[in-house]
Amino acid sequence: MSYNIWHIMGMGEKVSEEIRNRRLAVCKECNYLTNQGKCHLCSCPVEKKTRFANQKCDAGLWPV
Ligand code: SF4
Repeated sequence: MSYNIWHIMGMGEKVSEEIRNRRLAVCKECNYLTNQGKCHLCSCPVEKKTRFANQKCDAGLWPV
């Protein structure tokens, strides 16, 4: 689900700060991360995307 859609639908359940930080650490090393802080695969801002339980990495790179 793209960022725009889940933003409109409501932010939803959040993951723990630990999980969020683990996800974000992967994004920050990922070749798909743009200079604008968005994932090239889904166009989501990863600072937001990593917070929500209903989100997944489209490349399957997140640990959870
Ligand atoms: S969501 Fe996945 S593919 Fe996108 S920047 Fe993060 S780790 Fe990379």
